Order: sequence, then C-alpha cells, then structure tokens
Amino acid sequence: MNQTDQLVDLKNLSPDALVDFLEGMGKEKFRADQILRWIYLRGVTDFSEMTDLAKSFREEISQRAIISFFTPETIEISSDGTRKFLFRLCDKRSVETVLIPMEGGRNTLCISTQVGCAMQCSFCLTGTFGLERNLTASEIVNQVCAVRKDYSVDNIVLMGMGEPLHNLENVVSALKILYASKGFDYGPRRVTLSTSGLVPEMLELGQRIKVNLAISLNATTDEVRDELMPVNRRYPLSELMQACRQFPLAPSQRITFEYILIRGVNDSQADAKRLVKLLHGIKAKVNLIPFNEHAGSAFQTPDENAIRAFQTYLLDRQIVAIRRAGKGLDISAACGQLKEKLENKLLGSGKESSLQGK
Ligand code: SAH
Ligand code: SF4
Repeated sequence: MNQTDQLVDLKNLSPDALVDFLEGMGKEKFRADQILRWIYLRGVTDFSEMTDLAKSFREEISQRAIISFFTPETIEISSDGTRKFLFRLCDKRSVETVLIPMEGGRNTLCISTQVGCAMQCSFCLTGTFGLERNLTASEIVNQVCAVRKDYSVDNIVLMGMGEPLHNLENVVSALKILYASKGFDYGPRRVTLSTSGLVPEMLELGQRIKVNLAISLNATTDEVRDELMPVNRRYPLSELMQACRQFPLAPSQRITFEYILIRGVNDSQADAKRLVKLLHGIKAKVNLIPFNEHAGSAFQTPDENAIRAFQTYLLDRQIVAIRRAGKGLDISAACGQLKEKLENKLLGSGKESSLQGK
C-alpha cells in the first residue's frame, strides 16, 4: 500500500462526515465551514492555499487528507452549444458529463453516477456495456467542480451514465456536498435524480434526502416495459406507481416521468390513454423524448404525427407534457447516450453482474 491509499479524499466526505473527520483531529466544527468554502467556492486543491487556517494545521491535515480534482481530457462541442466533457479516472476508466444550455441562458449539467450501468435497458447505449463500477462521491462531485471552473451550472441532473439508485450511498453523500450551504449551496429543487425504477431504493431516498425525482417510464404495460427495461420484471408498474404515490413532495413539486417514444412500440393512442390512467392521482409532468436512433439499436423514432398526437392526448387531459429535444445529438451527448470508448471497455476487468449482491 502506498501512502495515498491511506489518505482521505475530502471530496468523499459529506459536510457532517467532514466535521467528524476534523473532530477526530481535535479541531473545532467551524473549521469544516472554512474548508468547504476553500474547496467548493474557491476551487482550492492544495491545503497550503487555505490561508485562514494555521500553518501547523495545514501541515497536519495534508498528512492525512487530499483534495482530488478532475481536469477534462477532451471537450466536444455540439452545434447547439452542448458540451461533452470526458474525465479520466484513477483506474484509467473514464466518465462523461454533459453541459446543456437551456432557454433563458441557464445551464443544466448532466452528471454520471456509475461507469456503465447494470440495468440493461434495451434502448440505451450505456446499458449495453454492463456495469464496470460505481463512482465514488468525490468522482460524482468532481464532475460539477471541474465544469464550474469555466461555466455556470444552474441545475444538475443525475441522468448521465449509470443508475443513481444502484449507487445510493455515494449519491446521497454527493447530494449532501452539493447542498452544503458553505459550499456550492445548490437548493434541492435545482437537482433532479432520474431512476429506472428501483422501488426500495426510491423509498429510501425519499426518507433520506430531498431531491427532484424523475422516473424513466417508457411504457404503459408490464409486457412492453419488461422488454424495454428488465428492472420492470422485479418491480412492475403497479409497484413503481405505488412508490411514486408514497414519495414525499413539496406542495408545488411534481415527479417527472420520462417517456421515450419508440415507433410501433409505445407510441399509440392506446398507450397515451393508459399513461393518463397510470398517472392518475400523482403530481406528475411528462417529458416526451422521441427515441434517438443509434447504431446499437433497431428501434426507430416515431413519425411527427404520432409524436404530436401523443402529446396532444395528454395535454387535452390536463397533463403537463413537454417535448424534449435531444440536445447535443451530433456528439452523442444526449443524456443516456453516453458511451464509453471501446478502449476503456477493453481495459475494464470483470464486470459486476446486474443486481446481485444487493
Ligand atoms: N439510469 C437512470 C438515469 C440515467 S438514464 C434512468 O434510467 O433514469 C438517462 C436517460 O436517457 C433516461 O431517461 C433514458 O430513458 C434516456 N435515454 C436512453 N437512451 C435513449 C435514447 N436512445 N434516446 C432517447 N433517450 C434515451
Ligand atoms: Fe441504465 Fe438508465 Fe440506460 Fe437503463 S436507461 S441502461 S437504467 S442508464
């Protein structure tokens, strides 16, 4: 073991865990606030720059801790202004993060939570690779730190590579860091977590921390959803919708349902009708995403009339249904379109099997 193996990466510590760590060194609580400011507001990665801490303390902590950081290896820029960042991890694997310019000059950052994904949804590029590993809290947070160095990040979506609820502990720590009032101070309303529907973890999430919830729904019958999203075989639609009803929401908050429209699979008027029924009694809004065709899949995007008819059916029944354009399509940067380069896949060792050992 070399020395860095024993050092704590402070970006892995939630604010409370940072207080505990410092107390273990005999330091006062308010030191945590000072350090949070240095790390997250000022982007400092070297203790020697933390000038409001005594020199002896800076030396002492640098014997025990490090502050990791990411530098983008490449940045691809799409014709619509979407930027895709590739970050290289310590084990040579890589992770992608996408900055999406929204209307009104605000930017949304789409971050990854795993390398690959175990859920194997049949329409999703990420799903075809299997899970390589979870990202640590610091690897989740460092995506935000690195992009914020050069761009403003107004909203954050956990919608990149991976299933966030399959990496719940690290995701919760990362959210706590993003919310820290002395650090980035993102309000929970500015952060959205998207899940394929891991029901027990959804309920646990709702108990543990505030965040906007998005569900990748994509089908209105178990038969079709079983095929598109194997997770449905474990947690069928009735259980998923029940969990949505139980999820704690603030008065004006809604759950977002993402629905990828796939020609001849889930885009009929009968689907629209079933969708309205499924959402009955849930404070919902629907994002309709025309399937983004890619070489790894035979699915097709519906024709324009079918997309419009589907949306109109929902709108006529007072369901907020927004059509989402896939941004950054020319650099395959649309959320869920993130793809490990083949070289990394070859570097990856044995894959963890889908949902075992949980
Ligand atoms: N694993 C989580 C979060 C990331 S998936 C989840 O499934 O919710 C990212 C999003 O991209 C999902 O909403 C998924 O439905 C969508 N997506 C994946 N492949 C797509 C494709 N080919 N076209 C359009 N959207 C896609
Ligand atoms: Fe994983 Fe989400 Fe892709 Fe499904 S849609 S394979 S859960 S990343």
